[in-house]
Amino acid sequence: MRYVSTRGQAPVRDFSGVLLAGLAEDGGLYVPESWPSLTHADWRALRGLPYAELAARLMNAFVGTCIPFATLQRLCHEAYAGFGHPAVVPLVQLDHDLFVCELFHGPTLAFKDMAMQLLGRLFDHVLTERESRVTIVGATSGDTGSAAIEACAGRDRIDIVILHPDGRTSEVQRRQMTTVLAPNVTNVAVDGSFDDCQDLVKAMFADAPFRREYLLAAVNSINWARIAAQIPYYVAAALALGAPDREVAFAVPTGNFGNVLAAWAARRMGLPVARLVVGSNRNDILARFLAANDMSIRGVEPSLSPSMDIQVSSNFERLLFEMLDRDAAATAGVMAAFRTGGRMPVPEHAWRRATNLFKGFSLDDAGTLAEIRRLHAACGYLADPHSAVGIAAARAQPTPGVPTVAMATAHPAKFPDAIERATSIRPPLPSRLADLYERVEKYQRAPNNLAAIEAVVRATVLRNAA
Ligand SMILES: *Cc1c(COP(=O)(O)O)cnc(C)c1O
Repeated sequence: MRYVSTRGQAPVRDFSGVLLAGLAEDGGLYVPESWPSLTHADWRALRGLPYAELAARLMNAFVGTCIPFATLQRLCHEAYAGFGHPAVVPLVQLDHDLFVCELFHGPTLAFKDMAMQLLGRLFDHVLTERESRVTIVGATSGDTGSAAIEACAGRDRIDIVILHPDGRTSEVQRRQMTTVLAPNVTNVAVDGSFDDCQDLVKAMFADAPFRREYLLAAVNSINWARIAAQIPYYVAAALALGAPDREVAFAVPTGNFGNVLAAWAARRMGLPVARLVVGSNRNDILARFLAANDMSIRGVEPSLSPSMDIQVSSNFERLLFEMLDRDAAATAGVMAAFRTGGRMPVPEHAWRRATNLFKGFSLDDAGTLAEIRRLHAACGYLADPHSAVGIAAARAQPTPGVPTVAMATAHPAKFPDAIERATSIRPPLPSRLADLYERVEKYQRAPNNLAAIEAVVRATVLRNAA
């Protein structure tokens, strides 16, 4: 399997190449040169497999000849062995045609673990083979950082520096990052928003000499391997509900568009997906785009679902590329205009194609609390604020005759204040995290400034090289 950039000006790479590269050199995102396609019989043959085995078989198409299948199987089994539920991604029924797929049973209690636990192991494997090392640099609005740190802490061939917006993550999210004291982990609280953090990471990657010297790699959702590792749970949920002989719809609480893009990819591979509902909080750029082709940047407003507090969804570029019939020059042109003008000029035909499949929905904080309360009263289910947005989106945009699966992306105990406000119940952390509030924290503060952040990265790498 070979990968090309959405902007057409970066080298074609294999799976290991895109795993290590993250963002392409031309600023674009890597996508498969052609999509694998499964027949009806292929999908049926995947029914009933344990999750790790399903993941290995689906990932194999994207990994190609880079990693032998037996090795990939082992890595998948190891990645999901530590999850707190034997089904890994259990389905819970909320109504006759509404289900929740719980993606939060990993070590950091959020869906990022689904991809990251595998990614850490893929990196380790590929770097050991190449006798090389990397510096992983990432921006997080909360969950990506802790999941990446959890996946990389203590690994010999990786240094990891994670930027988070100072004071804009929940305390649980911050502590999950800052209480990991492994010497190869550096946490930086940046004086700015999540988008500022993301821009700093992009600027570091654009600094070619720096990128080369410190062997930068990304684990943000722009990394293709993350998208690939998120496809299997859509397949697992659909197969459990009767696919390929029955259609399903998905509702996804969305920030950077990585999770829902994996659902799109599963559909592109032939899974019968009738509809994708994109759930947003008050930062509703995607809902505005889907309703009226208005992809225009506004300031980020903090909300109860901080992992969805975004201004720009970086993975949207992959969908744009597809909606433009994979015209890289056109994609690059639209992205350049977006960067300068703050509004993405998506051609009418591409917008219409997107809206045939995708529906938008946005919910403010009051609506989110009301949904958490309603769910608990209706069926005793406790949903975190992100998951509640997804479930509300599923209810707002039903597909007649088709079950909708809402993706639950965080454990309720990660957002105890919101749950308590809505239901008077304070959900406890699972026992493996029960002492989180007593653990020692380690992190540094830095201004929203590229030179300052590069100095922190340099210091981390030198410390561990010594
Ligand atoms: C990251 C995250 C999201 C958003 O996922 P994207 O792939 O960025 O769209 C939603 N909910 C939670 C809890 C998250 O951690």
